[in-house]
Amino acid sequence: MALHELSMASGILETVLEVASKNNAKKVLEVVVEVGELTLLNPDQLSMAFNVLSEGTIVEGAKLKVKVIKARARCNACNEEWDVGLGDLPTVVDHFTFLTCLTSDSKKFLKSVCPKCGGTDFDFVTGKELVVKSIKIEK
Ligand SMILES: [Zn+2]
Repeated sequence: MALHELSMASGILETVLEVASKNNAKKVLEVVVEVGELTLLNPDQLSMAFNVLSEGTIVEGAKLKVKVIKARARCNACNEEWDVGLGDLPTVVDHFTFLTCLTSDSKKFLKSVCPKCGGTDFDFVTGKELVVKSIKIEK
Protein backbone atom coordinates (compact mmCIF):
# COMPACT_ATOMS: atom_id res chain seq x y z
CA MET A 1 0.00 0.00 0.00
CA ALA A 2 1.31 3.43 -0.90
CA LEU A 3 2.53 5.59 1.92
CA HIS A 4 0.87 8.66 0.48
CA GLU A 5 -2.62 7.13 0.61
CA LEU A 6 -1.91 5.69 4.03
CA SER A 7 -0.99 9.02 5.59
CA MET A 8 -3.92 10.82 3.94
CA ALA A 9 -6.31 8.08 5.09
CA SER A 10 -5.03 8.40 8.62
CA GLY A 11 -5.75 12.15 8.55
CA ILE A 12 -9.27 11.49 7.32
CA LEU A 13 -9.84 8.86 10.01
CA GLU A 14 -8.70 11.25 12.70
CA THR A 15 -11.18 13.89 11.56
CA VAL A 16 -13.99 11.36 11.33
CA LEU A 17 -13.33 9.99 14.82
CA GLU A 18 -13.34 13.50 16.22
CA VAL A 19 -16.64 14.44 14.58
CA ALA A 20 -18.15 11.09 15.54
CA SER A 21 -17.28 11.45 19.20
CA LYS A 22 -18.62 15.01 19.30
CA ASN A 23 -21.91 13.64 18.01
CA ASN A 24 -21.98 10.67 20.39
CA ALA A 25 -21.89 8.21 17.53
CA LYS A 26 -21.99 4.49 18.28
CA LYS A 27 -20.96 3.64 14.78
CA VAL A 28 -19.93 5.42 11.60
CA LEU A 29 -21.72 4.07 8.55
CA GLU A 30 -20.49 6.20 5.71
CA VAL A 31 -17.87 8.86 5.05
CA VAL A 32 -17.87 11.21 2.06
CA VAL A 33 -14.61 12.89 1.15
CA GLU A 34 -13.70 15.32 -1.60
CA VAL A 35 -10.30 14.78 -3.08
CA GLY A 36 -8.69 17.15 -5.56
CA GLU A 37 -7.13 15.67 -8.66
CA LEU A 38 -3.83 17.37 -7.89
CA THR A 39 -3.37 15.34 -4.73
CA LEU A 40 -2.77 12.39 -7.06
CA LEU A 41 -4.51 10.15 -4.56
CA ASN A 42 -5.80 6.90 -5.92
CA PRO A 43 -9.43 6.57 -4.66
CA ASP A 44 -9.28 2.76 -4.48
CA GLN A 45 -6.05 2.76 -2.54
CA LEU A 46 -7.36 5.49 -0.30
CA SER A 47 -10.45 3.41 0.53
CA MET A 48 -8.33 0.36 1.14
CA ALA A 49 -6.00 2.23 3.47
CA PHE A 50 -8.97 3.75 5.27
CA ASN A 51 -10.55 0.33 5.81
CA VAL A 52 -7.38 -1.10 7.23
CA LEU A 53 -6.75 1.83 9.56
CA SER A 54 -10.31 1.97 10.85
CA GLU A 55 -10.27 -1.64 12.06
CA GLY A 56 -11.05 -1.83 15.73
CA THR A 57 -12.61 1.66 15.84
CA ILE A 58 -16.27 2.66 15.53
CA VAL A 59 -15.49 3.51 11.92
CA GLU A 60 -14.73 -0.11 11.03
CA GLY A 61 -16.84 -1.24 8.09
CA ALA A 62 -17.88 2.28 7.09
CA LYS A 63 -18.13 2.98 3.39
CA LEU A 64 -15.70 5.61 2.12
CA LYS A 65 -17.10 7.56 -0.82
CA VAL A 66 -14.50 9.52 -2.71
CA LYS A 67 -15.53 12.45 -4.91
CA VAL A 68 -12.75 13.55 -7.21
CA ILE A 69 -12.57 17.31 -7.77
CA LYS A 70 -11.19 18.52 -11.10
CA ALA A 71 -8.25 20.87 -11.04
CA ARG A 72 -8.87 24.45 -12.16
CA ALA A 73 -6.40 27.30 -12.42
CA ARG A 74 -6.92 31.07 -12.47
CA CYS A 75 -4.61 33.48 -14.22
CA ASN A 76 -3.25 36.24 -12.01
CA ALA A 77 -2.87 38.56 -14.98
CA CYS A 78 -6.32 38.40 -16.60
CA ASN A 79 -8.44 36.29 -14.19
CA GLU A 80 -9.24 33.69 -16.82
CA GLU A 81 -10.09 30.26 -15.35
CA TRP A 82 -9.41 26.95 -17.03
CA ASP A 83 -9.29 23.23 -16.35
CA VAL A 84 -5.85 21.86 -15.77
CA GLY A 85 -5.64 18.49 -17.45
CA LEU A 86 -3.66 15.77 -15.80
CA GLY A 87 -1.66 15.67 -19.02
CA ASP A 88 -0.22 19.04 -17.94
CA LEU A 89 1.27 17.46 -14.88
CA PRO A 90 4.82 16.23 -14.80
CA THR A 91 5.02 12.51 -15.44
CA VAL A 92 8.20 11.42 -13.75
CA VAL A 93 8.05 12.73 -10.22
CA ASP A 94 7.16 10.72 -7.18
CA HIS A 95 4.32 11.74 -4.92
CA PHE A 96 6.49 13.44 -2.38
CA THR A 97 8.36 15.63 -4.84
CA PHE A 98 5.11 16.42 -6.52
CA LEU A 99 3.35 17.48 -3.34
CA THR A 100 6.29 19.64 -2.47
CA CYS A 101 6.05 21.44 -5.79
CA LEU A 102 2.34 21.91 -5.34
CA THR A 103 2.79 23.70 -2.09
CA SER A 104 5.73 25.75 -3.29
CA ASP A 105 6.35 26.76 -6.86
CA SER A 106 3.98 24.46 -8.64
CA LYS A 107 3.88 26.44 -11.85
CA LYS A 108 7.36 25.43 -12.78
CA PHE A 109 6.21 21.86 -12.94
CA LEU A 110 3.10 22.39 -14.96
CA LYS A 111 3.07 22.78 -18.68
CA SER A 112 -0.18 24.70 -18.46
CA VAL A 113 -0.39 28.35 -19.51
CA CYS A 114 -3.33 30.75 -19.52
CA PRO A 115 -5.37 30.04 -22.65
CA LYS A 116 -6.35 33.70 -22.93
CA CYS A 117 -3.12 35.67 -22.43
CA GLY A 118 -0.49 32.94 -22.33
CA GLY A 119 0.54 33.95 -18.82
CA THR A 120 2.27 31.49 -16.52
CA ASP A 121 1.46 33.25 -13.27
CA PHE A 122 -1.56 31.43 -11.93
CA ASP A 123 -3.02 29.86 -8.83
CA PHE A 124 -5.13 26.79 -8.35
CA VAL A 125 -8.77 27.45 -7.59
CA THR A 126 -9.59 23.78 -7.03
CA GLY A 127 -7.79 20.47 -7.20
CA LYS A 128 -5.76 20.44 -4.00
CA GLU A 129 -8.57 19.70 -1.56
CA LEU A 130 -8.81 16.81 0.82
CA VAL A 131 -11.98 17.42 2.78
CA VAL A 132 -14.25 15.26 4.86
CA LYS A 133 -17.56 16.41 3.41
CA SER A 134 -20.03 14.46 5.52
CA ILE A 135 -20.38 11.37 7.65
CA LYS A 136 -23.35 9.16 8.40
CA ILE A 137 -23.55 7.85 11.95
CA GLU A 138 -25.64 5.63 14.17
CA LYS A 139 -26.31 6.86 17.68
ZN1 LIG B 1 -4.33 35.21 -18.48
